[in-house]
Amino acid sequence: MQHDVRFTRETRDLPPVDGWRRIEPTGYAHTSCSCGLDTGRVPDTEATSTARTHTAA
Ligand SMILES: [Zn+2]
Repeated sequence: MQHDVRFTRETRDLPPVDGWRRIEPTGYAHTSCSCGLDTGRVPDTEATSTARTHTAA
């Protein structure tokens, strides 16, 4: 089984300053993989460690 792990850090919009769009991390992230793994919305640290350890298993 090939693992194509995708890690997405969740961000939220902040009020624009001088017309510039601003975002900041919410502290949550999402890790999924082509093998069917899907953490859903979990704390950033959990999504990161899942992505790191997933392919080592
Ligand atoms: Zn996988």
